[in-house]
Amino acid sequence: MNWVVSCTLCGSSSVYESGQGLPDICPVCYEKGKKEVKKFLEKEQKRKEIISVGTPELVHRKIIKTLGMVSHEHVFGVGLVKELDLAKFNGGIAISWTEKIRTGRELAVKSIEDEAIEMGGNAVVGVEIIYKVLGAHNDMVMLLVGAKGTAVVID
Ligand SMILES: [Zn+2]
Repeated sequence: MNWVVSCTLCGSSSVYESGQGLPDICPVCYEKGKKEVKKFLEKEQKRKEIISVGTPELVHRKIIKTLGMVSHEHVFGVGLVKELDLAKFNGGIAISWTEKIRTGRELAVKSIEDEAIEMGGNAVVGVEIIYKVLGAHNDMVMLLVGAKGTAVVID
């Protein structure tokens, strides 16, 4: 007995001889999915291996190709208190600012690393972090944390 199963992804029908353990996607979509998973894992691996440094060169590793500049700006708001309580500022609020700025910096660096990977690089050199206060709106201070550097291929 033959079983006809329509693929839940592309809708095409596939015929199977056994009714047991039938997949809900066709072989084409299955292969495609496998490739996508592989690509995703490869990218994750590259993310683990990528090196970002503030120096223009790396010790022990040679730059074999310069790919170009990568940059990213991360903008976010931090809440202000109307009446500034100094004790509070030294405690909780200052910590939350530090946390937010750190998260912003990490996001910006991760973004330029992703951009470098897309360009075929495995390192970013000359990384600079930029902090800017863009202004205040109501009780929010808008901050920009940016990262820029040069994507390279190292051996
Ligand atoms: Zn399909």
